[in-house]
Amino acid sequence: MSAVVEDNIRRLKRERQGPVCAYLYDLQALRSWVSGITASLPPACRLYYAVKANSEHRILETLRPLVSGFEAASIGEVRRIRAVSRDCPIVFGGPGKTDEEIEGAIQAGVRLLHVESLQELRRVDLAGRRAGRPVAVLLRVNLRGPLPAAKLTMCGAPTQFGIDEEELPAVLRAVRDGLDHVDLKGFHLHSLSNQLDADRHAELVALYLHKAAGWSAEVGRRLEVLNVGGGIGVNYQALDSQFDWPRFRARLARVLEAHAPPGLEILFECGRVITATCGYYAAEVLDLKRNHGTHFAVIRGGTHHFRLPASWQHSHPFRVLDVDPWPYPFERPELTRGHITVAGQLCTPKDVLARDAYVERVRIGDVLVFSHAGAYGWSISHHDFLSHPHPETLYVG
Ligand SMILES: *Cc1c(COP(=O)(O)O)cnc(C)c1O
Repeated sequence: MSAVVEDNIRRLKRERQGPVCAYLYDLQALRSWVSGITASLPPACRLYYAVKANSEHRILETLRPLVSGFEAASIGEVRRIRAVSRDCPIVFGGPGKTDEEIEGAIQAGVRLLHVESLQELRRVDLAGRRAGRPVAVLLRVNLRGPLPAAKLTMCGAPTQFGIDEEELPAVLRAVRDGLDHVDLKGFHLHSLSNQLDADRHAELVALYLHKAAGWSAEVGRRLEVLNVGGGIGVNYQALDSQFDWPRFRARLARVLEAHAPPGLEILFECGRVITATCGYYAAEVLDLKRNHGTHFAVIRGGTHHFRLPASWQHSHPFRVLDVDPWPYPFERPELTRGHITVAGQLCTPKDVLARDAYVERVRIGDVLVFSHAGAYGWSISHHDFLSHPHPETLYVG
């Protein structure tokens, strides 16, 4: 946690009436982090931001000059992106697109549509016909495994995403034999989530390249764009052991030299790894108790604000910010050098953000600051369950 983040939380505590509950985003940290990532990609690569990880206006505005474009998974996301830029490149994907979404995306000038099935491809072709111009598409392919392991898998197993690799020849035939308002630019493969291993990720890109070259030859089109998806991970458990970007760059450069046709553009559409580290969720301890031998801290807030730990079933890292003074006329409860489970205000035992985490000291009235909360934090949470107030959102830097 930077000094500016800590100072702002302390300021909130001084200036606000009730207990602290806020998201803080360090925009300067976001800028330097993303600049570092783009600098560490080989020249043929373009970094897009998958906005579902965090689609706050200020975040998109900050990222706009730093990334090559944005990935949207709904027409709502396309609109959020267009609210920060009328003309930045957008790629639009996701299963179950409606005709309205397809037409809306064409009207919004999206650069590429990621098509998830033959039926969808036919509807895109019709929409292109109505619009009077071909629509640039990538076909999303669901590869047959085995794939390098990571935490969430979108491919290599039965999922609703993309076109089964075994069905692809039929789709390629349909493209070749007459879908003339579809302009096939290449392929889209987003197979994994939370990949932490740079070598495996480079191997995966090599596999994608090999597959995409074969499919392009089959359909008789030049491979112009290969979207290798997102899925680069964040290590929430061992914070100083993160995805090794310099190593990835070195491996990837070798892979591209050996296998990439000249002029091929490689798109990355990353979400988590881009915004995770710039965000913090800060929540004040309202109560401390011991139930059935376990120490609990109950915070102002919970998984309705920050569902990530519950959805990944992990114990999320946090730090205790000690806050003085104590306003009550009785002794201040505290736990020293012990293990604490952090729960929120919801009426469900699943409302837990961290389990058995060691703390030097925690007192009622201290503020717990959860780091790495900038991606899939607020955006995936069920905000209005129990009708508690929403946290404040603060941008610093
Ligand atoms: C969610 C998603 C991403 C971003 O994934 P991260 O793990 O956040 O990098 C990219 N592409 C598609 C198709 C997605 O569904």
